Amino acid sequence: LCSDTPFQQTGREAKLVMKTSKVIWYNGEMVPWEKAQVHVMSHALHYGSSVFEGVRCYDTNNGPAIFRLEAHSRRLLNSAKMYRIPVEFSLDEVIQAQIAIIADNDLKSAYIRPLIFRGPGSIAVDPGDKCSNDFIIAAFEFGSYLGAEGLENGIDTCVSSWTRIGSATNPALSKAGGHYLNAYLVGEEARRNGYDEGISVNDKGLISEGSAENLFLVRDGVIFTPPLSSAILGGITRDSAIILAQDLGYEVVEQALPRELLYTADEIFMTGTAAEVTPVRSVDRLDVGTGKPGPITKALQAAFFGLFDGSTADKWDWLTLVEKQPEDLG
Ligand code: PMP
Repeated sequence: LCSDTPFQQTGREAKLVMKTSKVIWYNGEMVPWEKAQVHVMSHALHYGSSVFEGVRCYDTNNGPAIFRLEAHSRRLLNSAKMYRIPVEFSLDEVIQAQIAIIADNDLKSAYIRPLIFRGPGSIAVDPGDKCSNDFIIAAFEFGSYLGAEGLENGIDTCVSSWTRIGSATNPALSKAGGHYLNAYLVGEEARRNGYDEGISVNDKGLISEGSAENLFLVRDGVIFTPPLSSAILGGITRDSAIILAQDLGYEVVEQALPRELLYTADEIFMTGTAAEVTPVRSVDRLDVGTGKPGPITKALQAAFFGLFDGSTADKWDWLTLVEKQPEDLG
């Protein structure tokens, strides 16, 4: 009764509670979920010095398959590099550990959360080499992030009063824990005011992205999205959406976009690992187009979800099958 938004009535509360699974990969070892703990003096807890990923595993006709595993793993290592956090695991080890966390937890569809963080050892903001550098990978069952209702009918959004962090303050392309204090403010403000999600502009007032999603808008049949220099995270779903849209024959233009285009676009959609491809039906209480998901958004949604039921051919080798080792099969 506290809100009239469909978002809050359709299971956001339930979705906020994390499911648990059996084991977590912790610095190279599988440990029971409840034993995967950190010290309260961990640097990351005090100063936000962590980098992470969100990766999805889909239950396909060929079994569990991780979407764009290599791209996520590369971004994770690059996020650590930008913050100069040493990582002792190779790209291939990071990839294999994510396959193992799905297999060892007997998961079919799941959200994978790799996290590299600075552990205990120093209270200094710049701890040098005095803190441990720890690495965990968890995986657990996960539904749709912005709600099934939102995926079908679109979500209500607002332009946030908070500006997205910019490259002059933090390396915005790094998916770093501390950056999510900004995303938290954007998302919290939006939901407090009855919207499903907030959109932030950058320090130039140009469209940046949602609190955890990239943004696309359609004008006269052409798809536009802000470039990396608009202080966005270089989303892997964004990249997939661009490639799928071009494959469907649409023109995609990456360019700086003024805020007011949000109010006159024919269609708007958001992309993200958690949000997948979600239509936006309003911005600041103005309908986007007809107020219903438009044809290009729907075509792209179908192409995207088709990757997981086989109706879209995976021409790009985006899916990595999680094959069980023979000894696990018995
Ligand atoms: N922007 C931000 C701030 C995000 O947190 C995310 C989610 N990782 C995205 C964009 C979308 O990125 P991706 O498609 O790689 O999940």
